[in-house]
Amino acid sequence: MRTERTIRTCPVRMKFTCPRTWEGLQPTANPDVRHCAHCNEDVHFCRTDEETLRHARAGHCIAREEPHPDELPNLMLGRPEAPLVITPEQKKASARNVREMGITDALDNARFEGARDCPRCGYPVPSFRKTCYVCAFELGRG
Ligand SMILES: [Zn+2]
Repeated sequence: MRTERTIRTCPVRMKFTCPRTWEGLQPTANPDVRHCAHCNEDVHFCRTDEETLRHARAGHCIAREEPHPDELPNLMLGRPEAPLVITPEQKKASARNVREMGITDALDNARFEGARDCPRCGYPVPSFRKTCYVCAFELGRG
């Protein structure tokens, strides 16, 4: 599956100048750390949820791998001639992509007061959400 490494937890003020992908960052002596010249921050590449949570709790910028948009089923507008065929690979890429979006959402909302750690996956769930966006665990409102 073709993937890309995207930057998460970048401060909102830099949204427009953020290079967005790992390739846009300057390499450092550590292959898992790159430097963002726009934010003047080190970005940590995380392979696991444990690494992600550890760096997020330390307030670090994070990059994670997610399926490249080319791997996802094409969005179609209007009524297609033939039914849209979604391959098993595209289904897998979509599911992984949804989870990555949930992780981005969890990390972005972790700063809100009352955020709780999900008992199932450990990612933070803001008090205004009843359900964990990463693993769909039902916590109820905080
Ligand atoms: Zn969860």
